[in-house]
Amino acid sequence: ASGTIGSSVIPIVNKLQDIFAQLGSSSTIDLPQVAVIGSQSSGKSSVLEALVGRDFLPRGSDICTRRPLVLQLVHCPRRPEAAEGADEWGEFLHLPGKRFYDFSEIRREIQAETDKEAGGNKGVSDKQIRLKIFSPNVLNITLVDLPGITKVPVGDQPSDIEARIRTMILSYIKHRTCIILAVSPANADLANSDALQMARIADPDGSRTIGVITKLDIMDRGTDARNFLLGNVIPLKLGYVGVVNRSQQDINFNRSIKDALAFEENFFRSQPVYHGLSHCCGVPQLAKKLNQILVQHIKAVLPGLKSRINAQLVAVAKEHAAYGDVAESKAGQGIKLLNILTKYCEAFSSMVEGKNEELSTA
Ligand code: GDP
Ligand code: MG
Repeated sequence: ASGTIGSSVIPIVNKLQDIFAQLGSSSTIDLPQVAVIGSQSSGKSSVLEALVGRDFLPRGSDICTRRPLVLQLVHCPRRPEAAEGADEWGEFLHLPGKRFYDFSEIRREIQAETDKEAGGNKGVSDKQIRLKIFSPNVLNITLVDLPGITKVPVGDQPSDIEARIRTMILSYIKHRTCIILAVSPANADLANSDALQMARIADPDGSRTIGVITKLDIMDRGTDARNFLLGNVIPLKLGYVGVVNRSQQDINFNRSIKDALAFEENFFRSQPVYHGLSHCCGVPQLAKKLNQILVQHIKAVLPGLKSRINAQLVAVAKEHAAYGDVAESKAGQGIKLLNILTKYCEAFSSMVEGKNEELSTA
């Protein structure tokens, strides 16, 4: 993934999300996020990893993603003097201040945190894990990796596992500011896609759904995804992007993302059926498309976002006034929070009203 978007607005959006998450009221403000949805093992985590350009998510043929992972990508400038890997790290909200430079350690921490909340036996929880990745190589966006839709309960899963996961997914994608990456594997019929079915419930006119077709490399011989990608099977306003992620064998052999991207590029080059479709083939195209859509989207939602933040601010102020002479520490905390919020809202407002041109380039 390369290129930056909406340079200075998104860090503020991310900061506000952090503040509201800590307030326990993240649901009261709809901020732009990108969520991946689809059935289990359709390749959701693989797509996210490829977009980020680093290996850090649990992936595999079994159920791996069992809690929502909210991933904030934070672009930070490259430091030419930094040693290899020293300007790229992850930080979890539940472990403040601890920097993870080793990305396989991030994966282990996600797994440990998952087990802590959802148990060791395939259980699923709707409690978020929040992770920030700081890197010179990422777009400034927030991505949400969600558990996949499964039909038959296994391990410690309750009998209504499918309904529960669907409810969890909907709670993310129902927000009008959420951009949906609807992931469907190319080796199954698109008409059976859980991702497209759920996306249609949440976004009936398809104005914020991008179709992602994975596993183009393992389609039945004699078939191809051309008609899927062209929208001839199920039309989507924002269109489709086809990708080739790493196979399970690639994962077992620790094949790098760089190798995988080279393999993908070569795949599309060597398949004449995809020639002429380069605008909807490959992870770099997906990143580009996402970038453009995100910028448009943020532009469109800014005014509403601003008035909602203002309303929230008034509510916090009222609540604070109502506390009156409650414990000093609590009041102090309130004031501190209010100051932070005010600061960010001011910065936000000036950006909405003033320097809109900053948003105009992708
Ligand atoms: P998730 O459950 O939707 O998050 O799916 P994962 O990303 O964990 O992938 C599930 C399995 O499918 C893993 O073994 C991946 O290696 C494999 N996989 C995902 N995408 C592709 C692809 O484009 N091609 C191939 N050959 N395998 C893939
Ligand atoms: Mg997954």
